[in-house]
Amino acid sequence: MQLPVTVPFHDDETPLSLASRLAIANGYRSLAEFLSCTDVRAAAIRQCEEGAIEQLSTWSGIPKSRLVRHQILGGTGSWRLGDATLTKKMRPGNRHRFCPQCVMDDYSQTAGRPNAAPYVRAYWCVRLVNTCEVHECPLTEVEASKTDASDFSSFVVSNLAQLRKEAESTTNAAGADLARYVIARIRGDLSNIFLDGLESMVAFELCDRLGEVVRRHKAAPQEVLDANNDVTLGFNIASQGPRAIEDFVTSILASTKLSTRDFRTFFGSLRSWLALHRSEPNFGEVAELFQSIAERSFPLGVDEVFIFPTKKRVLHSITTASSQWGLTEKIVRTMLEDAGVIERSDLPHNNVLFDAASANAIFGKQQTGMSIRDIHREWRLPQSQIRALVLNGFLPKVEGSGGRAGSRIVVNREVFEDLKRKIDGDVVAASELTDHVPLREAATNRNGNLEAILQAVVTGELKVVRYGGSYFTNLWVSRSDLARLH
Ligand SMILES: [Zn+2]
Repeated sequence: MQLPVTVPFHDDETPLSLASRLAIANGYRSLAEFLSCTDVRAAAIRQCEEGAIEQLSTWSGIPKSRLVRHQILGGTGSWRLGDATLTKKMRPGNRHRFCPQCVMDDYSQTAGRPNAAPYVRAYWCVRLVNTCEVHECPLTEVEASKTDASDFSSFVVSNLAQLRKEAESTTNAAGADLARYVIARIRGDLSNIFLDGLESMVAFELCDRLGEVVRRHKAAPQEVLDANNDVTLGFNIASQGPRAIEDFVTSILASTKLSTRDFRTFFGSLRSWLALHRSEPNFGEVAELFQSIAERSFPLGVDEVFIFPTKKRVLHSITTASSQWGLTEKIVRTMLEDAGVIERSDLPHNNVLFDAASANAIFGKQQTGMSIRDIHREWRLPQSQIRALVLNGFLPKVEGSGGRAGSRIVVNREVFEDLKRKIDGDVVAASELTDHVPLREAATNRNGNLEAILQAVVTGELKVVRYGGSYFTNLWVSRSDLARLH
């Protein structure tokens, strides 16, 4: 049965807002009081359950199809609002979110009952929008109990004086463009060529995490950082498209404030988020975009993983070139300066970048040096053990490489290959490994003294066999030979 008093429904309104207004318009003190006379729960209206919407349609005289557009699902997964998909953390939760000026405009401009006029705009429920699209003022957020949060009209009636005061004293806020964009996504309107191509959830999360990068590097004036939340900061860049995102990355890298150029920390959580979702179809485009930006901005080597393994090296730093060609950083730097590839500067070695093609022209295409990481990749031995072998001279490093911290040690590839040959053994079948232990384990059993074991192998005192591929971890020795060693 239709209620005696009805109210006009707005296309951007949530169904729960309509229920709350109907209750007040018909003389109930609250939505809870009204619903207690029915078998409908507020949560069922919020989630647009069939029976509840049927009833709401009957009470209001509004067709069901108009009522179900703004469904707010609970639970832990994503939820849909109109045409937009949103994540759990963008859900409103138990609180009122509203623009005081919109509320007072609704109140004073209605031809009907003023208490029942203010309504909840669907985009207010998205907890990444903090600004009113009309008045460009901050949205107010008020915590409420679960029941009260469902009942906006009662809240307005109880707090009218306060709301009026707030509406008169509001200030301007950043973020109205973001609010308009969120509204467009809820409506299903196309308004941004780049972001519209991404699923709304991915687009908003991208803006949020990109904003974190802006804040991380203080890449905007302090007053801008103070006035905007992360998602707005990111939206201001991402809404201009891929080129603007890359220009932003380039501009931070060019800034003299940046002390290290580490791709692992530069992008903060943006990189780990994309790496986590990289194989999901909705993330493909944006993951590829950041991979290609990183390859053009950082000295990533072949197979080095940013989001995906790098296919082709675009840039070298002095440090990576030093590893690749087995030369000290000082020599690499001098050769590049002499060839006019780089300018003389005070920048640290790992911050001096140049294109990989010109490095090939100067140093040759052959890789003649290896970093500890390269050796680890070929050998599968922990980097700490490799470093120990190098530092005690068993696997000698390139003279002058490494520095005090020993972090940029370079080993000549030929020296490494030579050692590899010396400690290799005949390939055997699994059945022949009768009383054998892995070579690495043998070292661990002898107080981790890998060097002593290897020395015995090199001098022929200890015989090694190989079972499987070329990794160090596939080398085995017999227990009896080991026992004879001492
Ligand atoms: Zn407003």
